[in-house]
Amino acid sequence: MSTIAAVLAEAQSIIGRLEARALLRHVLHCDEARLIAHGDDDLAAPHAAAYGALVARRAAGEPVAYLTGSREFYGRAFVVTPAVLIPRPETELLVELALQRLPENGGCVLDLGAGSGCIGVTIAAERPQVRVTLVDASADALDVARENAHRFAATNTTVLCSDWYAALGDARYDLIVANPPYVAAGDVHLTRGDLRFEPHSALVAGVDGLADIRRIVAGAPEHLVPGGWLMCEHGHDQADACAALLRQAGFGEVFAARDLAGIRRVSGGGAPTR
Ligand code: GLN
Repeated sequence: MSTIAAVLAEAQSIIGRLEARALLRHVLHCDEARLIAHGDDDLAAPHAAAYGALVARRAAGEPVAYLTGSREFYGRAFVVTPAVLIPRPETELLVELALQRLPENGGCVLDLGAGSGCIGVTIAAERPQVRVTLVDASADALDVARENAHRFAATNTTVLCSDWYAALGDARYDLIVANPPYVAAGDVHLTRGDLRFEPHSALVAGVDGLADIRRIVAGAPEHLVPGGWLMCEHGHDQADACAALLRQAGFGEVFAARDLAGIRRVSGGGAPTR
């Protein structure tokens, strides 16, 4: 039998300090303070076995968020499974921009390609008067989104299985937000890190990564109210292409916003008035 401190030291040498501690907190259902306070305690055999298995899976590349089933986004611990993209910190920018532009007294938001629901559920939880429709083409992803809506008591959400706008009829929204697939099919990043384990359908969009953004921009005017906004996350080098697509579709006040790394990460515009 080994102590918690000894087991941690060994795991740390394989997968690094932060991840070694995160996985042990997960196995023991405890917080960091408890881990520190109980360093001299022995780790029970079943816990040691479960922990060893997780460390091995992490060492083989599986993302920590899939191993723990959770990832924090905008201050909330979202449920995450391999059916959904793992929420990224840069996507919080999209939430912030959406919250800034929402009408004071409520409004309707459409989250296209909602995945875990991290964008739409966060907006719904932050603004209880807003109604949010979460759309995804994957039924498995929508199960996760539904679970997160329930977890954060976001009763002001509706979940809908749809290929982008296909199942929305003539519904119009004040704001459309999307973190669609935007990686080019041949991008080497797909063969590295967490991306190897994430759903291909949530990452890859044609040979130039813009296939889905084209469809989202083209369909948006028919689903926005006058004065409504479309905002879309995109790749580090796609802001100019997105601006061109938005202008081509008649959007005004086209903007690009930078993430914390200084990268133009979200582009958007105001609905065409014609
Ligand atoms: N930002 C992700 C990445 O490249 C891609 C997410 C997406 O395609 N929407 O790591």
